[in-house]
Amino acid sequence: MPADENERLCELEELEATEELPEPRFSAIAAAAARVCSTPIALVNLVGADSQHFKGSSGVTATGMDRADSWFCPHTIAARRLLEVHDADADPRFRDTPIVAGEWRVRFYAGAPMISSRGHALGTVCVMDHRPRRLSPEQHQMLTVLAENAALLLEAHHQVRRADRIIHGLQDVQELKDQFLRNINHELRTPLTSIRSYLELIQDGDLDSATEQRFLGVIEHNSDRLLELIDELLLMASLNAETAVFHPARVDLIVLVHRALEVVADRVQDRGHTLILHAPDRATVWADALRFQHVLVHLLDNAIKFTPDGGTIEVRASADPAPRVEICDTGIGIGAEHVERIFEDFYRAPEAEERAIPGTGMGLAIVDKIIRVHGGSIRINSTPGEGTCVRVTMPVPPSPQSSAHRTPPSSPRPGL
Ligand code: ATP
Ligand code: MG
Repeated sequence: MPADENERLCELEELEATEELPEPRFSAIAAAAARVCSTPIALVNLVGADSQHFKGSSGVTATGMDRADSWFCPHTIAARRLLEVHDADADPRFRDTPIVAGEWRVRFYAGAPMISSRGHALGTVCVMDHRPRRLSPEQHQMLTVLAENAALLLEAHHQVRRADRIIHGLQDVQELKDQFLRNINHELRTPLTSIRSYLELIQDGDLDSATEQRFLGVIEHNSDRLLELIDELLLMASLNAETAVFHPARVDLIVLVHRALEVVADRVQDRGHTLILHAPDRATVWADALRFQHVLVHLLDNAIKFTPDGGTIEVRASADPAPRVEICDTGIGIGAEHVERIFEDFYRAPEAEERAIPGTGMGLAIVDKIIRVHGGSIRINSTPGEGTCVRVTMPVPPSPQSSAHRTPPSSPRPGL
């Protein structure tokens, strides 16, 4: 066993080297090795914990074998230098291994280790024959050079994959930034324009006091909306910076659900939705009441706005086996390829954009972070055109005695 076995295996995993087998460029190296050494079989072989993975091959169709089936390459990587076995039948170390005694019938082996820039022998470039053989010093040298190049190629492939991911990530971030700027511009401008127009009307005078009061009400509503937006931006920033303050306690989930429903009651009515609630009398949850209510209001808000008028919103709360709330709607739904992204800061699915449903894409990002701080989880099931179900599961609350110490049930963060 190589002395650096653990680190070696970690590097193999990091390089994602065994994900694609075989790869043409490595098979070209194997073919070159077979040709240089005039052998029927050559491999670029990565030695994993239990298996050997043929990254490139020539003369065989298999893509790997158990580590215990052949001791040649494991020997080469443990010794970290070229190994040549002239006649395996005559060598007690290898004579009884499946690759010699079994259907491969290997008699001759020569392999050079592929040593990474971090110094780990990840695998070998090796050649095999069915008859006893001996390589020349030039062939040894060529095999060593091919192994060095195979190691470099492995690392180069990894770097290319990483660069690809970074470029994609940057493109996504740029797209999100553009989308956010468009949305926030619209979301800020709409209430501001409204405030300005109504102020002008009031300034012009000639309004009876009832109309003036009504206009002032509109102004108040729009400035509330602006404040809400700014609060959301600040909350998101503090959650990202992990500076948001939480005051958790044992609270009744059902009370929070009722409060959240009161907050959105007018909006539900305006949109002609039917609201159905299934809930037990009590369900204790360990949470910051205000933050958790924020979560519930936000999820209800999404259900209301992404459901065409006259839809149904069903809320189910339960206490067993853990405190849980599920909010299902009959709305526009979310395409499968977007569901995995909707918790990202500012991400909005194209359906929302195309239908010009207002929003900044901050809501679910905030919701997700709040739930995670509590040690809970959120799952979304959605079918485009049919509806969406969001399920929030919170950790089982601690017993009343232990909650006196204000320790969370299974929170990943201290301070909660
Ligand atoms: P904001 O919450 O900042 O006002 P938003 O509602 O668009 O904006 P999120 O709440 O973060 O943003 O939701 C992200 C995206 O997920 C939405 O834009 C929408 O595409 C999709 N989405 C969320 N909830 C639903 C739902 N119940 N039905 C359909 N799509 C939804
Ligand atoms: Mg939202």
